Amino acid sequence: MTQDNRKPLDKPEANGWHWQTNILHTDTQLPAGFSAMPVPVARASTVIFPDLAAMRALDWKNDSQWRYGLHATPTSMELMRRLAALEGGKHCLLFPSGLSAISNVYFGLIESGDDVLIPDNAYGPNRDHADWLAESWGITVRYYDPMIGDGIGALIQPNTKLIWLEAPGSVTMEVPDIPAIARVARERGVLTAIDNTYSAGLAFRPFDHGVDISVQALTKYQSGGSDILMGGVVTIDDDIHHRLKQARMRLGVGVSADDCSLVLRSLGNLQLRFEAHDRSAMTLATWLGTRREIAAVLHPAFEDCPGHQNFRRDFTGAGGLFSVVFDERYSQAQIDAFIEGLRLFKIGFSWGGAHSLALPYRVPSMSTATPWPHKGGLVRFYVGLEDVRDLQADIEASLKAHLVA
Ligand SMILES: *Cc1c(COP(=O)(O)O)cnc(C)c1O
Repeated sequence: MTQDNRKPLDKPEANGWHWQTNILHTDTQLPAGFSAMPVPVARASTVIFPDLAAMRALDWKNDSQWRYGLHATPTSMELMRRLAALEGGKHCLLFPSGLSAISNVYFGLIESGDDVLIPDNAYGPNRDHADWLAESWGITVRYYDPMIGDGIGALIQPNTKLIWLEAPGSVTMEVPDIPAIARVARERGVLTAIDNTYSAGLAFRPFDHGVDISVQALTKYQSGGSDILMGGVVTIDDDIHHRLKQARMRLGVGVSADDCSLVLRSLGNLQLRFEAHDRSAMTLATWLGTRREIAAVLHPAFEDCPGHQNFRRDFTGAGGLFSVVFDERYSQAQIDAFIEGLRLFKIGFSWGGAHSLALPYRVPSMSTATPWPHKGGLVRFYVGLEDVRDLQADIEASLKAHLVA
């Protein structure tokens, strides 16, 4: 016998193909009998069709067909299903950030010549996005007092297409009367979209209150780890879903299966985390309310918060965000020193993870439709999952060090 001297990769394998071919055509399926808890991570750009007829039968409106990894994979589909169910909606679309989800609502539903109403307490980058569309894309944008209630009717024009809602405003914490605004909007044929990030979809169910579209920054509680950027849009109406879906395809945005699997992993303890944030935030907000450095605590569960009655009627919890207004005798420099003197509360955008955060805001420069009643500086706290006794001691130490009367 002559020895076969070919390199291992040059020798055909049992199926007649070489190693280099077989490593590319593994066609691995999860074997029957293998079972595990996590939703499998299905990474894909190309999705393979069994034949040309299947490819030609594609209908972009059909959510049960696999077309392209950008549009959906089994992993993203499972996340979409669970998020839609959480908020009591029917459809969900995923985006690379919360702001991208907001942007898609505009590009899916608004045309030049249309008018959009935005609450004065809206998420800042949403305002900026709308102002950009107003400057460059021929829409009009008007800001309204979030406490307007059914008075919104007086602002609706024949070309008004969309009313944004945010409850509570994520810095100033007013809670609008969502059912009242949604009812008037529906009577007048105007769509409503809520930025429902504050409630994580857990504490407020928008579709029970007549809202058409719910936007989530999944970056926040749903990710829970300060390591994922993602957005979601949940809807209940097929036509609105299709318009948003088409815009999403045309804008060419998508999410990775890896990120989806991490959010799916975090959803299992979403409710427990939300309740823990809520408890600790209530403890700290209540304590801060007794401090003489603090002129006002802005927390929707507090009776003096504008819209507190709406909060009690429509919400089932509050999560970890609240703000305080300092007594006006403190300068911004002193308040800045207080924030920088905190050791456990970090300085940074976004929230929803395990770590506490604190940021200063200049509200009068953010709102244009409503006068701001407070004079002192505002600090927004995000209360994480640290032991609340350590958080309180951290705040107390920095108050003592930097805010001497
Ligand atoms: C963070 C946030 C967003 C945007 O989410 P990103 O993923 O950071 O783009 C939108 N709305 C609210 C209320 C937010 O807090």
